[in-house]
Amino acid sequence: MPNKKILLVEDDFMNMRLAQHILEVEGYTVLKAATAQGALEQIESTLPDLILMDAQLPDMDGMTVVRILRENAITRDITILALTACAMKGDRERMLHMGCDGHISKPIDVQDFIDTVRRLLSSKTETKK
Ligand code: MN
Repeated sequence: MPNKKILLVEDDFMNMRLAQHILEVEGYTVLKAATAQGALEQIESTLPDLILMDAQLPDMDGMTVVRILRENAITRDITILALTACAMKGDRERMLHMGCDGHISKPIDVQDFIDTVRRLLSSKTETKK
């Protein structure tokens, strides 16, 4: 699936590096942000096809970022995949309720991660046709 832009929003260096590696091997173009503010600053100008959103960021929680994106007509329809730590019970439900299109648990399972990204990107393409 060439020419798809994915924005990784993650403050943990190792998670960021792993996710970036997996996505680049798959042929996606990867943009990165380690803070909510950094993400918000580049989303409107880059309009990624998919955003991978960590639930816990240093400056704002991921759910707040999702709410801001869903309230903005320019960013409302961007596919968002939540990344949450397994230990954070309730985060998954909260992220989906806030408008995420899917969810991945950390630590990342490589195959599950790839399958979920592919599925979300292809289902979005189908609904737009
Ligand atoms: Mn985090």
